[in-house]
Amino acid sequence: MKKGIAASKGYAIGNALIKEENSINVEKRYVKNIYKEEKRFEKALELSKKQLKEIKIKSEREIGSDKAEVFESHIMLLEDEEFAGAVKVKIKIEHINAEAALYDVVSSYIKIFNSMKDEYMKERSTDVKDVGNRILNNLAGQVFPLNEIENDKVVIVAHDLTPSDTALLDKSKVVAFVTDIGGGTSHSSIMARTLEIPAVVGTMDITDSVRNGDLLIVDGVEGTVIVNPDENIIKEYRAKMKAYNMDIDKLKSLADVETVTKSGKKVDILANIGMPQDVEQVLENGGEGIGLFRTEFLYINRTGMPSEEEQFEAYKYVVEKMEDKPVVIRTLDIGGDKKLPYLSLPEEMNPFLGYRAIRLCLDREDIFKPQLRAMLRASAFGNLRIMFPMISSVEEFLRAKDVLKQCMKELEKEGRTFNRNLKIGIMVETPAAAIEAEELSRYVDFFSIGTNDLIQYTLAADRMNEKISYLYNPMHPAVLKLIKKTIDAAHKNGKLCAMCGEMAGDESSIPVLMEYGLDEFSMSASSILRARQIIMEN
Ligand code: PEP
Ligand code: MG
Repeated sequence: MKKGIAASKGYAIGNALIKEENSINVEKRYVKNIYKEEKRFEKALELSKKQLKEIKIKSEREIGSDKAEVFESHIMLLEDEEFAGAVKVKIKIEHINAEAALYDVVSSYIKIFNSMKDEYMKERSTDVKDVGNRILNNLAGQVFPLNEIENDKVVIVAHDLTPSDTALLDKSKVVAFVTDIGGGTSHSSIMARTLEIPAVVGTMDITDSVRNGDLLIVDGVEGTVIVNPDENIIKEYRAKMKAYNMDIDKLKSLADVETVTKSGKKVDILANIGMPQDVEQVLENGGEGIGLFRTEFLYINRTGMPSEEEQFEAYKYVVEKMEDKPVVIRTLDIGGDKKLPYLSLPEEMNPFLGYRAIRLCLDREDIFKPQLRAMLRASAFGNLRIMFPMISSVEEFLRAKDVLKQCMKELEKEGRTFNRNLKIGIMVETPAAAIEAEELSRYVDFFSIGTNDLIQYTLAADRMNEKISYLYNPMHPAVLKLIKKTIDAAHKNGKLCAMCGEMAGDESSIPVLMEYGLDEFSMSASSILRARQIIMEN
């Protein structure tokens, strides 16, 4: 049995599928039979094309045609005769193996793209790298598994899963995932809760203890994984699974009930989403609004920025689906563990403390403005609120608001409609914002406490690092003091205070947050009903 961090509740039984790491060692070898080497390359090229076409169709169905676009550009590169021709010429002239020839050609393409001034062309280097890796994998006879799983009931076992890996998981086949590294509030864990699949992260070395095909029981309640269990244990877990699912069914009766505490206070439970289609699940679970739309997921798994129009459609879809319920849309919070390869941002020593979120947006109005314009335009169709992430001073908030005002002016000039009085708030996720909450609450319409980051910054404990996860404690007095201070400050100035960090859905934290007078709890849709039950019992 392996112990890790319980990242997403539930139980699953399935066969292990190990996600290989992407780094591939390429050795240059002299080959006599260049004809055979050329054929190997052609075969790998064809297989890559076939895989990408299948992935594209699947992605269109599951994550939308806009996101699937990235695969079309990969297919185009595979069909580019100049690219394939360059590899074959290299094999012939230098008498080298296909892997080495491919590696050299891909490297020279990457160099050329990277040296271009045009941002769009620069971004193409990531595509070339991805395609190159795929062909290399196929030459080595390996297949990148996440999108091409054949059997159902698979447990993905990986050293790590990025948020973009998780976004592509096929829920009809993947019943759980387990990783070596990561913490309970890393974005892959948050995604697992959204997908409602059990997950255990931070096991340290699960990839060393499991082979492809091993039978695994994933216990997302205790945070354990059992490798090749015997019949009795399987029976025991089947019973646990049944009881767990029955409990969930029972909770469903709370979907249409108002959340009122024993003392008669009405509390709102909202949901966090990453993609527009997640609203379905929110409505099914009786969410009273969207407390956090993590818009980053509209930007990942693709080759370039989503346009203003595309974003407008996504935001409009969500606000319309939620009817007059509040929808808090957060401006782009890229950085930390959420990366956008096509932005070609330099590697940073401390990504969570670096060029991210509002800092990047204020520096890149070419990215910020289209998003703000899309949000404003969508505000004409429902109860949309805008929220800025990672704010650490009043000045930063005022700068962001200023850009928003500029967008309002532009839209006015263009004769477009939007809600001029929409509410503008901030995430309180830096200790600086919590300490300055009283000052900030004079300027903003609402706060939403982002405990995932607030805890890591306050306790200097990386939310992604399993080795120090014991320090990552929502109940630490320093964290609780900052939370209370923030809620009190908001109330003092007549403002609403919500929480959208994972702590809001944490069963043991809810009673304390209620006592502090938190107005809105926003959490993964899968946590809503249990939270409602707890709040109603308190
Ligand atoms: C948070 O930091 O608590 C939060 C909700 O934002 P994210 O998890 O996306 O960083
Ligand atoms: Mg955050």
